[in-house]
Amino acid sequence: MSGEIHAKQGRHGLQHRRGVTVRGVVQGVGFRPFVYRLAHEEGLAGFIGNDTDGVTIEVEGAAERLDAFVARLRAEMPPMARIDAITVRQLAALGETAFRIVASEVLGRVSTGIPADAATCADCLRELLDPADRRYRYPFLNCTNCGPRYTITRRIPYDRPQTSMARFHMCAECQAEYDDPANRRFHAQPNACWACGPQLSLVGSDGEALTADDPVAACVDRLAAGEIVAIKGIGGFHLSVDAINQAAVMRLRERKHRYGKPLAVMVRDLDAAREICVLTDAEEALLQTPARPIVLARRREGSDIAAGVAPGIPWLGLFLPYAPLQHLLFASGPLRALVMTSANLSDEPIAIDNDEAVARLGEIADAFLMHDREILQRCDDSVAAIVDGAPQLIRRARGFVPLSVPVQMDAPPLLAVGGHLKSVLALARGRFVYQSQHLGDLESATALEFFKESLEHLMRTFEIEPRTVVHDLHPGYLSTAWAKKFAHERGLALIGVQHHHAHVAGCMAEHGLTGPVIGIALDGTGYGTDGRIWGGEVLIARLDGFDRFAHLEYMPMPGGDAAVREPWRMALGALHAAGFDVESEQMLALLGAERNEARILKRMIERKINSPMTSSCGRLFDALAAVVLGIRVVDYEAQAAIGLECIAVDEPDRFEQGDYVPELHTAEEGSGSVALIRTGKMWKAVLDDLWRGVPAGRIAARFHAGIAEGFINAAANARIETDINTVALSGGCMANRRLARLLRAGLEEEGFTVLQHRNVSPGDGGLSYGQTVIAAAILAGK
Ligand SMILES: [Zn+2]
Ligand SMILES: [Zn+2]
Ligand SMILES: [Zn+2]
Repeated sequence: MSGEIHAKQGRHGLQHRRGVTVRGVVQGVGFRPFVYRLAHEEGLAGFIGNDTDGVTIEVEGAAERLDAFVARLRAEMPPMARIDAITVRQLAALGETAFRIVASEVLGRVSTGIPADAATCADCLRELLDPADRRYRYPFLNCTNCGPRYTITRRIPYDRPQTSMARFHMCAECQAEYDDPANRRFHAQPNACWACGPQLSLVGSDGEALTADDPVAACVDRLAAGEIVAIKGIGGFHLSVDAINQAAVMRLRERKHRYGKPLAVMVRDLDAAREICVLTDAEEALLQTPARPIVLARRREGSDIAAGVAPGIPWLGLFLPYAPLQHLLFASGPLRALVMTSANLSDEPIAIDNDEAVARLGEIADAFLMHDREILQRCDDSVAAIVDGAPQLIRRARGFVPLSVPVQMDAPPLLAVGGHLKSVLALARGRFVYQSQHLGDLESATALEFFKESLEHLMRTFEIEPRTVVHDLHPGYLSTAWAKKFAHERGLALIGVQHHHAHVAGCMAEHGLTGPVIGIALDGTGYGTDGRIWGGEVLIARLDGFDRFAHLEYMPMPGGDAAVREPWRMALGALHAAGFDVESEQMLALLGAERNEARILKRMIERKINSPMTSSCGRLFDALAAVVLGIRVVDYEAQAAIGLECIAVDEPDRFEQGDYVPELHTAEEGSGSVALIRTGKMWKAVLDDLWRGVPAGRIAARFHAGIAEGFINAAANARIETDINTVALSGGCMANRRLARLLRAGLEEEGFTVLQHRNVSPGDGGLSYGQTVIAAAILAGK
């Protein structure tokens, strides 16, 4: 092979030529101008062009310069790029002397991806705040390294005419930047300036335009005066108030009819973030990634953030400005921290259209700061946290969508519709799964519309025509009914997947495993193969199937969904199942219940009226929180559990759990035997502690440790039977950082290899990813 290579004598010595292919997210992210600049700096000739899967480069020059070039590709790539693979091969030198960017046609069919939206880069931010720059204070500046992408794109290919920038015609100066390979704005599709691009306007709550010379300054004045302003962002409108102003925050809550749910806070900069929260290095790094997710961080004692922002919770959801407009809100003037919450009513999709926003939010907002660039894809802010030392995505949306999550198999074209709450759908083909943005709870016609909108867009974007549709087993989910109808109309195959199998399979696939593994799925609600509600499960899982090895002992949910909203009902159900007399004086006092309420619930349970049985770990947390914290009603799912996690004191967890460790008990169930994880003794220990006056924070800590230990014991038993030494942790309860940490540490102490989610949500947002890999494995086995 090396014999065929010809080196030529160039001006600077012996010339060599190499072909370099780069795979990953390298189109529409400024990769070509970056390579152009790099080639110039290293004095290399050749060319670069986009191809089907990434970019193709040929470079020619001195050997050590070529080596440096390849090393710098990875080390210095643009912030929005992601390199999955670089391959280098030797070519014969041609004696070229210049470096060119070649047209895509030259290299054949170009890949059709759309990049994710990215935060304003440091160069653009400098221009934004530089009075001498022609884009000084221009709220829509961007370049190839930053700016909106997915949210402004109508269809492929990602080119200006296919985006909502199509109606803005670039001025001569912008066009010159766009055409110059050496410019940071070379082929930056949303390139714009004061002269040619989108403009802001300030609008009253009735939709009438308000006169303002400087809409940003007028908006800042209103916010500083305590008003609620709906601000059009990248993926939708935010409702915004000054986060320091308690009265303003409470007015927003009242108008939005949302009382308990924590509100996200955008801070001026990293210094402001540090003043408000105690941040680890990992959290600071996560805050500053180009995706700019909302990061859950511990609130600093004595911080001046209004108490109403996150009532009863010592954490805040914090994020940094990611659009030029947001930087301008903080750049001058008094604002340091703003509540920035998705502009919607209850759990409807986020508003994106100007008229739609006024119609839906006129009752909430005092004014609107809008602009004339259309948002074509609604996209909420993503939410992430550092769990056990590493970032974990809790809600995957802006900044991540539509980037693919790789799988280690070849999937035929398929669609997975996910679950019901925190819905996310997925399309798969080959080695890639494309998850949609967070679509919210599929409970209304508007939410279903958003679901369909997003599906059509993804199908168009990635040119995937699914041949199989995958759904959850729950017969009552809107997504299940929709999947069946869709498949029927189009004559597609259908595959139903058990909820917790999907959770665990997603975690396995993230780590490239096909199993078998021991899967621990701790969750809120998921339909089981026995028709009951599962959620505290130990599964022996492969991608194409599973056995149920152990589960939390069933307890009744008196009132069904009402028991999710009213945790005291859950507590009554759990205590009744554990053999306590729920009508005794002591129990009534504990539950904060009237005698006849308790009697009615007890009768419902005994007569099996609207009292489904559940093994849900989330519901067990609810029940315990109701008893320990006296919570009767919650505003959002998991609120009670979060309260419990928040008050748990620090202590040497694993050895402090005493009698809180659930017992394992083998029982016959269905066609085989299963290990029941029984909590009767734990409840007795909890009540003893309560009556002895043990502080709630200590009880909460022992409970976390006990539950973790119960599942670790179940995994150890599973290992004895199966010889499997790998545990995958999944389910919505993995957002509980204390529980996740205790499980991981305890399992590793027992010698297990432990897998946790990273790029896919452990909650129901990750279901469609798991459904995809299960269906692909089943189809491959056929
Ligand atoms: Zn930029
Ligand atoms: Zn311009
Ligand atoms: Zn779930």
